[in-house]
Amino acid sequence: MPVIATAGHVDHGKSTLILALTGIDPDRLPEEKEREMTIDLGFAWLTLPGGRELSIIDVPGHERFIKNMLAGVGGIDAALVVVAADEGPMPQTREHLAIIDLLGIDRGLVAVTKCDLVPDNDWLELVLEETREVLAGTTLADAPLVPVSAVTGAGLPELLTALDRLLADLPQALDSGRPRLSVDRVFTVAGFGTVVTGTLLDGRLHVGQEVEIMPRGLKSRIRGLQSHKERLQTALPGRRVAINLSGVAVEDLARGDVITLPGDIKPSHLIDVRLRLVDDLPLPLAHNTLVDVFIGAAEVSARVRTLGADELRPGETGWAQLRLARPVALRKGDRYIVRLPSPSITLGGGVVVNTHPRRHRRFRPGLIEELETLARGTPDEILLQTLGAQPYELKEALARSALPAEVGLQALTTLLETGQALLVDQKLTGRPVGTLPPTTYVMSAGGWATLAGRIVEMLESYHARFPLRSGMGREELKSRLQLPPRLFNLVLERASAEGLVVEGETTVRRPDHQVRFTPDQQRRIEDLLTTLRREPFTPPSRVDMENAVGADVLAALLDEGTLIKVREDILFHAPAYEQMRAGVLAHLQQEGSITVAQVRDMFNTSRKYAIAFMEHLDETRVTRRVGDERVLW
Ligand code: GDP
Repeated sequence: MPVIATAGHVDHGKSTLILALTGIDPDRLPEEKEREMTIDLGFAWLTLPGGRELSIIDVPGHERFIKNMLAGVGGIDAALVVVAADEGPMPQTREHLAIIDLLGIDRGLVAVTKCDLVPDNDWLELVLEETREVLAGTTLADAPLVPVSAVTGAGLPELLTALDRLLADLPQALDSGRPRLSVDRVFTVAGFGTVVTGTLLDGRLHVGQEVEIMPRGLKSRIRGLQSHKERLQTALPGRRVAINLSGVAVEDLARGDVITLPGDIKPSHLIDVRLRLVDDLPLPLAHNTLVDVFIGAAEVSARVRTLGADELRPGETGWAQLRLARPVALRKGDRYIVRLPSPSITLGGGVVVNTHPRRHRRFRPGLIEELETLARGTPDEILLQTLGAQPYELKEALARSALPAEVGLQALTTLLETGQALLVDQKLTGRPVGTLPPTTYVMSAGGWATLAGRIVEMLESYHARFPLRSGMGREELKSRLQLPPRLFNLVLERASAEGLVVEGETTVRRPDHQVRFTPDQQRRIEDLLTTLRREPFTPPSRVDMENAVGADVLAALLDEGTLIKVREDILFHAPAYEQMRAGVLAHLQQEGSITVAQVRDMFNTSRKYAIAFMEHLDETRVTRRVGDERVLW
C-alpha cells in the first residue's frame, strides 16, 4: 500500500486538494482550522480508480514548519507536488523540491491547482513552463504536470489516473524481517492508551509482539495495529501503521523515536555520511558548523566534520562525519537532510554510509577511498541490493549486479550460506552455485518473505470473502501475482513445503481454512442428499439443486467433491458417480464395448443421463466412441 506525501508552498492548496480527492480533511488541529494553515502532518487515504489503496501524508508548506514536513517525507514512495496556478512556483516549492531531490525520491507528480483562478490559458501555459524549469535537474524532472481545481473539480479524474500510472510499477516494499517505524505522531486513545503512528519499513509487525523503543531502550508489547482505521493482526512493510503500545506513557515517547525488534538497532552518536549541498546556497559549509539533522522523523542537532576538505561549496558532494547531540536509531543507507538553524535554510543531505564509525582523523590518506568503498558496498551487499524484493533468474541477477562473474558467484554463495538469499526451487538448495542452470530463480530472503506474505494475505482475504469456497483458483492466484508459469509453480511448491498454503487440484488455500456451513445450509444439504440417494441415477437438474441449497453452497459441494459435474447442467452425487463408473468399466472389461442403451438400462436411468455420462467418460479419456459403441480409451 503505497504512501505519498504532498509538497509545496503554503496556501497553494495542498490540504484542499487532499480533501477534494479523499473526503478527509487533513487539517485536524483546532489551531490549523483557526489559522487556515497546515501546521503539523495530516493523514488521509483513498482508493484509486485502478483499485490500489493509497496513503497520503499532507505536509505543511510554511517555512516555519519545515521540520514537520521533514518528519513526514521519510519512507514515502512518491511526492505529490502542489503548485498554485495563480502564483506559480514559490520559495517553499523550491525548498521542498530540493529536499525531495536530496532524499532521492524519484517518483512524483505535480498538481497545478487553483486553475479556476487563472485568467486564461496563456497564463496557465506560463505557470506550467515555470514549474518545469523549477523541476529541471531534480529527481522529479520528468514528473507529469496535471492542471486541476479543487474547487470546481476540474482535472481531478485525470489526477487520479496519473497517480494510478505513477504507482503502477512501484516495486514491492522489502520485507527483510527487521521491521522499524520512525514515529511521527504520539497520542492517547481513550480506552486503549498510547498510540504511535509512522510508515513501517523493512519488515512486518504482529499484535502481541515485543518491541523496543529506540534510542530510549524502552520495552513494550504491541496491543493493537491499525492501518487506515482498520484493525490488523499483522502490518506489512511499506504501509502507514498505527501501533497501540502497552506499558508506555505518551510522555515517555516523542516524534523521531524508532520502534524496532528488541536488540536490532544500536543507536548512533557519530555517523559517516556522503553529503551533497544544494546548488543555490549563499555560503559554503565550513568544518565544525552546527546544523540540524533530519533523519526518519527524528531531528537532532549535530556538528559537521568535513573529512576531505575545509569546507564544502554549494552544489558540491563530499564526505563528512556528523557528531549527533543525542543518539539516533538509524541504518546504513538511510537518507538525511541537514539544515542551518539560523537563518533557517536547507543546506543539503545525503546517505549514511557507516552507523558506528570511529572518529576519523581529517585528511588521513586513504580515508576517502575507504568511505567510497563502504558507500559502494561489499559484493554481498551489492548483490543483495540488486535482488531487492524481486525474483530473478541467476544470469539476470548477476548481470544486473554488474559484478565480475566470479565475484558475483562468490557473493551469491555467501548470501545462500548465510540465509540472506535463497533458490526458489528448493530441490536445488545446497548445489554449488557454479553448477546451477543460468535460469535458476534466486531471491533475497526478504523478497521471499514479502512474496510469501502477499500470498498469505491474498488467500486470507479470499477466504474471508468466499468462506464457502475451498480455495482460490490457481489461475486467479497466478494472474494476481503476475508471475511467469514456471516461477509460479516453484513459488507454490516452496510455499506449500513451508506450510503456508495447501494446494488442491485447481485451488490453493491456507492450511487452516475449512468450508463451514450454517445449520440452515447443513439442513438443506441433507435434504438434497436424501433426494439424491433416493434416485441416484436421475438427479434433479442443476438449477433445481441451486434453488434447493443456494448457488454458493452448490459450488462448495462441487468444490469438495460431494457432487460431480458431468455436464454443465448435470451433477451426480459422488457415490452414484463412482457406482456408474465402476459398472461401465466392469462391463467394458468383460464385453469390450458398451452402448448408451446398455448404460441406460444398467442404471435404470434415462437416455439423457446415459449420454451425458458417457460423453463425460470420453472427455476424461476413460472411453472412446466407435460408431454407436464405447470402448476403453
Ligand atoms: P495549503 O496551505 O497548501 O494546504 O493550502 P490550503 O488547502 O489551505 O488552501 C489555501 C487556500 O486556497 C484556501 O483558502 C483554499 O480554499 C484555497 N484553494 C485551494 N484550492 C483551491 C482551488 O482549486 N481553487 C480555488 N479557487 N481556491 C482554492
